[in-house]
Amino acid sequence: MSLERQENRTTLTSSAAKRSYLNDRTFTPGVSLKKELYMEVFEYTLPMMHPEPGKFFQIHPDDHDHPNPWRESFRQLYKGAHVNPGYAEHFYNNVTRYKGRENMLYYDTIEDALGGVQEGHFDGLVFVHSGIYTDEWIYVESPITMLGAGPGKVSDNVVIENTRDSTFVFMEGSEDAYVGFMTIRFNPEDKSNNHHNTHHCLEITVNCCPSVDHCIISSTCTVGSAVCVSGHGACPTIRHCTISDCENVGLYITDHAQGTYEDNDISNNALAGIWVKNHANPIVRRNHIHHGRDVGVFTFDHGMGYFESCNIHRNRIAGFEVKAYANPTVVRCEIHHGHTGGIYVHEKGRGQFIDNKIYANNFAGVWVTSNSDPTIRGNAIFNGHQGGVYIFGDGRGLIEGNDIYGNALAGIQIRTNSCPIVRHNKIHDGQHGGIYVHEKGQGVIEENEVYSNTLAGVWVTTGSTPVLRRNRIHSGKQVGVYFYDNGHGMLEDNDIYNHMYSGVQIRTGSNPKIKRNKIWGGQNGGILVYNAGLGIVEDNEIFDNAMAGVWIKTDSNPTLRRNKIHDGRDGGICIFNGGRGNLEENDIFRNAQAGVLISTNSHPMLHKNRIFDGFAAGIEITNHATATLESNQIFNNKFGGLFLASGVIVNMKDNKFSSNQDAIEKAVSRGQCLYKISSYTSYPMHDFYRCHTCNTTERNAICTNCIKKCHHEHEVEFIRHDRFFCDCGAGTLSNPCTLSGEPTHDTDTLYDSAPPIESNTLQHN
Ligand SMILES: [Zn+2]
Ligand SMILES: [Zn+2]
Ligand SMILES: [Zn+2]
Repeated sequence: MSLERQENRTTLTSSAAKRSYLNDRTFTPGVSLKKELYMEVFEYTLPMMHPEPGKFFQIHPDDHDHPNPWRESFRQLYKGAHVNPGYAEHFYNNVTRYKGRENMLYYDTIEDALGGVQEGHFDGLVFVHSGIYTDEWIYVESPITMLGAGPGKVSDNVVIENTRDSTFVFMEGSEDAYVGFMTIRFNPEDKSNNHHNTHHCLEITVNCCPSVDHCIISSTCTVGSAVCVSGHGACPTIRHCTISDCENVGLYITDHAQGTYEDNDISNNALAGIWVKNHANPIVRRNHIHHGRDVGVFTFDHGMGYFESCNIHRNRIAGFEVKAYANPTVVRCEIHHGHTGGIYVHEKGRGQFIDNKIYANNFAGVWVTSNSDPTIRGNAIFNGHQGGVYIFGDGRGLIEGNDIYGNALAGIQIRTNSCPIVRHNKIHDGQHGGIYVHEKGQGVIEENEVYSNTLAGVWVTTGSTPVLRRNRIHSGKQVGVYFYDNGHGMLEDNDIYNHMYSGVQIRTGSNPKIKRNKIWGGQNGGILVYNAGLGIVEDNEIFDNAMAGVWIKTDSNPTLRRNKIHDGRDGGICIFNGGRGNLEENDIFRNAQAGVLISTNSHPMLHKNRIFDGFAAGIEITNHATATLESNQIFNNKFGGLFLASGVIVNMKDNKFSSNQDAIEKAVSRGQCLYKISSYTSYPMHDFYRCHTCNTTERNAICTNCIKKCHHEHEVEFIRHDRFFCDCGAGTLSNPCTLSGEPTHDTDTLYDSAPPIESNTLQHN
């Protein structure tokens, strides 16, 4: 910088000259001439407004309410230094020609301009004109304002790059500095040299808070990051920038740094879009973080941060990754179309994820593993190509108030010693099950609504022991809650209803505690225990199921205590195929078929049950079953109290039978066909016969009165005392039944619901 140049500047910035410039009467008033002059000085093809420090934006002149935005912009910007290589010499050699620019300084290089700014005799406004500026040392340690000056999209035309060292370095003292409207590149020759780890497009160091606005930032270096914000008090504002196509990390915030990062577009970077590490705690709003070649945002090693309303999508790894004590807050973001999962929390990661939309990711919407403990609250997690929330490998977490739906795998999956708290979620319309707990999964699962899933609402298997409490589990296309292959745990105070299969199924070594649930309205049974299932089933209310309230089959041995099993559309408890079970103090009433039906080699214990008000038998035992019946009360059942088929042996003690209606015996003694009381929908137990004259098959049965009347003088054979309906009365034999007639009306009412009572408001009009 020459001495002569210094003198010129001092002259040009005299206060007299400034006043003369400000006086409009001595300056060109016309809009068009102002625009021409303006564009000659600044190159901007739209007026650049600068209403206050640190704020610049271009406007369309027609949309602006100022009468002459060109003049207004000129007034706001005129006290500036201009970096315009080769122009300075021309300008200073023709000072009289450039009357009106007395407050403008011209330099050939940015370094020179920054040197001039240090002298403090102007506003610190530096315009960098169109061109490519290479390998200048730009260390900012004062509150300068530097912005690109060029036509069209300004940042495309003003390019500052460095091939050896950081392009911009902000040091202490650069608070209130502003850099905007330019392209900033780091473009080293040896792109992978490790010493470039410390070199960046932008380097923001301790105790400085510059603003960077409307810049295009990129780095071809394969180590380090494009933007590095590091150290206590590093607190920049970075807005409206594009950080794309970098061969390293886009934005790296570390070592207690903070800052505000808003409305940036961060895409196609080789590593993460954003790294937040080591107690850094940025505010990141409305950034568009997409098409990354790694994760979208990676917080790790105690990284923090407040991420709000970001759109994070189509990143090759997870959208948002949290690791190693990192604890960010992520609210109202959209995290979607990830090539793996949406959110990945691992290795003791934490984090608060609230009110986000997480959807259409290739893997689970949220992964939680390896002692991580995030809060996942109020999110919509949907349309994933795998599950909704996946917690495995000692994962924890609070999963609360989310709407989880339409995922290809389970809404929530809990695996391998994981133990989350899952509550107040809606988990529905999945293409698979609702909640899947397996491989020693645990967890407290409370007050969720689980419905309309394609497979089971809840599965518990392979050594898992969750606690499921006060959930509403309903309207599933298969089972409500399914315990199998050593699934255990506690199912209590749930409302389980309207499933296509059983409300609860227990099989293959599973031994859950099922307490105080209401299980109703199923298209199949209430509880099905089979294939060596166990379980403690206590204090449940089981009603209005299409099949048995409780089924115990195939070598199962549950304990049922104090349940109320009623108003079933089939039997109360049915025990088949070697089923056992301890049935104690249950109330079994108002079921359409037998209160307790014990069949096919089963042998349960019934103790102190009350079996009453049934529309068929109280207890029926058949097919080589046995039973121990002690201290039961069996009363007011329509067909009668206890029916034992031929050959059945029971141990009985202190049972009380009273007030049973004995409809079978009464029908027999009245000479009626038993079909009249059974129709084909139930199987009253009595003597049944074959008729050889009528050549009936093994599968036909004929009641005693039909034998006496309809098959009088035929060759007949007593078969046994057992459950059947009379084929003679049913009209299926060639020989017409002489006792036939419609079944008595009261049997029909068991199966036909009453017609609805219509309010007929039109009848008097
Ligand atoms: Zn008959
Ligand atoms: Zn016959
Ligand atoms: Zn007959």
